[in-house]
Amino acid sequence: MRTSSPQETGAIAEMILRGIAKGEYYPTLALSGDLGAGKTTFTQAFAKALGIRKRILSPTFLIMKRFPIHHRKFKNMYHIDAYRVSSADLEKLGVREIFNGENIVLIEWADRVRDILPKTTTWIKFSHGTSENERKITIN
Ligand code: ADP
Ligand code: MG
Repeated sequence: MRTSSPQETGAIAEMILRGIAKGEYYPTLALSGDLGAGKTTFTQAFAKALGIRKRILSPTFLIMKRFPIHHRKFKNMYHIDAYRVSSADLEKLGVREIFNGENIVLIEWADRVRDILPKTTTWIKFSHGTSENERKITIN
C-alpha cells in the first residue's frame, strides 16, 4: 500500500486494528523500516483508535510501555522500541509473558529482536517513497 500523509498512514493503523478485532491479523505487530518511515506515526494513530489518550512518545525514551485499554478481546496495548536493546534485554524485562493473547503489542525495530517474537506475528514494513510524504506499507 502507499500513503501520502501521516493521516493516511493512521487510517491504515485503524484498518489493521479492526482486522485484529476480527481475528484477521495476529495481535503482535512487528514494525520495521528506517528512521522516519512512519512506525511511531502508525503507533500513535493505532493507540488513539483504541481510546488511549496518553501521548505516545517517539521512542528512545522508552523501551516498553503498557497502556491499559477497554476492548472486548484485549487488556493492554504495549509499545516496545527495540532500537537500542537486544532480545536478551527484552527477555529480562519479561517480554515473553506479554505475548499471551491478552495484549496487542506493537514493536518498533522488530527485526532486531526477531528471535523472541511469536511465530504468530503480523509483520508490517514501512519505507520511504519517491516524494517527501509518500510511504510504502507492506503487511506480512
Ligand atoms: P519512525 O517511528 O519510523 O522513525 P515516525 O513516525 O517517528 O517514524 O516519523 C515519520 C515522520 O514522517 C513524521 O514526522 C510524519 O509526520 C512524517 N510523514 C510524512 N508523510 C508520512 C506518511 N505518509 N506516513 C507517515 N508519516 C509521514
Ligand atoms: Mg519511531
